Amino acid sequence: MSTFNWIIQLVYVAAASCFVLGLHLMNTPATARRGNQLSTGGMVAAIAATLAIIIHAGTISATGWIVMLAGGLLGGGAGLYAARTVQMTAMPQLVSIFNAVGGGAAALVAIHDYINLAGRAAGPAESITITTLLDVLIGAVTFSGSIIAAGKLQGLISAAPVTFPGSRVINMAAAAIAAAASVYLIVTPSVPMLLVVIAAALVFGVTMVLPIGGADMPVVISLLNAFTGTAVAMAGFVIGNWALIIAGALVGASGGILTKLMADAMNRSLGNIMIGGFGTGDGGAAAALGPGGDVRSIAADDAAIQLAYAQKVIIVPGYGLAAAQAQHAVAELAGVLEERGIEVSYAIHPVAGRMPGHMNVLLAEANVPYPLLKEMDEINPEFPRADVALVIGANDVTNPAARRAGTAISGMPILDVDHAKSIIVIKRSMASGYAGIDNELYVNPKTSMFFGDAKTALTELTAAVKTLVA
Ligand code: NDP
Repeated sequence: MSTFNWIIQLVYVAAASCFVLGLHLMNTPATARRGNQLSTGGMVAAIAATLAIIIHAGTISATGWIVMLAGGLLGGGAGLYAARTVQMTAMPQLVSIFNAVGGGAAALVAIHDYINLAGRAAGPAESITITTLLDVLIGAVTFSGSIIAAGKLQGLISAAPVTFPGSRVINMAAAAIAAAASVYLIVTPSVPMLLVVIAAALVFGVTMVLPIGGADMPVVISLLNAFTGTAVAMAGFVIGNWALIIAGALVGASGGILTKLMADAMNRSLGNIMIGGFGTGDGGAAAALGPGGDVRSIAADDAAIQLAYAQKVIIVPGYGLAAAQAQHAVAELAGVLEERGIEVSYAIHPVAGRMPGHMNVLLAEANVPYPLLKEMDEINPEFPRADVALVIGANDVTNPAARRAGTAISGMPILDVDHAKSIIVIKRSMASGYAGIDNELYVNPKTSMFFGDAKTALTELTAAVKTLVA
C-alpha cells in the first residue's frame, strides 16, 4: 500500500472513531453538543479524504468536478438552511426528508455501480450483485417510504392510516415482484430487470407507510432511519469505502435500537405497527367531543395559590409547550417556585412532543438543569407524593385510558399524573391530542383546567405566584 493510501486509511479510521465517540457522547444531554461537534469533525475529515482520493486519481473531468461541487454546495446549502430554520415541532418531517435523501443517494450509488458493471463484457460478480441489490432495495424503499412519512407529518397527506381496496395486496405483490426480480437479476444480470426491482421497491415503500398513522409515525421514522443507515452501509460495500460502511452501520444499529425503545415506550410490537391502524386521529373530528363528566375550569389566581403553597410540584411538559414555545416561561415559573422552597421536577415521557427527546431539547434550551428532568420510570412512583402535577400541553402521555383495553392508546405506558394529590392542566381547549381520543384525566375530580395558550398562561401564573406572600 502506498504512503498516500496509508494516510487515507488512517484518516478514515480517525473519522470512524469520531463517529463512535460522538455517538457515545450523545448518551447524556451534558455532552451531547460535544458529541455532535466531534461527529461533524469526523464527517469533514471523511469528505476531505474522499476528495483527496479523487484528486490523486486524477480521473475526474472538469464537467465532473463542476457537477460534484455544484451538487455538494446545493445539497449542503439546502441541508444547512433547513436545519437552521426548522421549527422544533417540524423536526420529524425534516428527519424523514433526510432519510429519503440518504436512502435515495445510497440507492443511486448502487444503480450507477451496477449499470457501469453491466456495461462491461464480464458482468457483475455475485457478491457485488447481492450488496448492490440490497442497497437498491433498501434505499428505494426508504426513499419512497420517507417521502410519504414526511408528507403525512407535514399534513400534505392524511395523518390517519390510508387504506384502499386492494392496498394490502398491492403491498404484498410489490414485495413478491421485488424479491422475484432480485433473484432473476442475480442469475441473469440485466438493466431492465434492475428497473423492475427499483419500481417494485418504490411501490412497496409507499404502500408500507400509507396504512400507518398517527402516533405510530415516530416509530416508522426511526425504522426508516435504520433502513437509511443499512442502505448507506451497503453502498460502502459496493464502492469499497469502509468509512461509509461504519457510518452506515452505526446509523442502522442506533436507528434499530431507537425503534425498539420507542415501540416499547408505546407498548407496541413492530409487526403490530407495520400492520397499521393505531393513532387514527389527528385531533380533528374527535376534538370537539370532550370526555363525559364535569370539567372544572380555574383562573391564574386559583392555580397560583395551589402551586405557591405546595411542597412538591411535578411539571409535565408535552407537545403544547413546544407549540407555544413556552420553555422559558415554564423555567421562570419553576425558578419562582424554587425560590419559595418548593421542590420542582419535570416528568419526561419518551414520546412526549413530536420527536424522541423533544422535551429534553426544549427544556435544555431554557437552561433547565438536567438532574431535574426525570424519566417516566423514575418519576411515576413520585406522583403520589406530589401536591400538584402541572400538565402543560401534554395530553396522550397522561391519558389514563391507556390503562384500559379497547382504546387507541391501550397499553401505552403513561405518566401517572392522576396519582398526584391535585392536577392543573394548561391547554387551550378540550381538544384531543395526537392520538385523537378524549382524555379522562380532564374529568377527574382532582383536576382543574386552566385554559389558555401555554406561554400566556404560564406568564400569568408566574405573575400571580409572585404576588403571594411566601
Ligand atoms: P398531544 O399531542 O397528545 O397533546 C398536545 C396538547 O397540547 C393538545 O391536546 C393541545 O390541546 C395542546 N396544545 C397545543 N398547542 C398548545 C398551546 N399553544 N398552548 C397550550 N396547549 C397547546 O401531546 P403529548 O406530548 O401528550 O403526546 C405526544 C403524542 O404525539 C403522542 O400520542 C405520541 O405518540 C405522538 N407523537 C410523538 C412523537 C415523538 O417522537 N415524541 C412523534 C409523533 C407523534 P389544545 O388544542 O386544547 O390546546
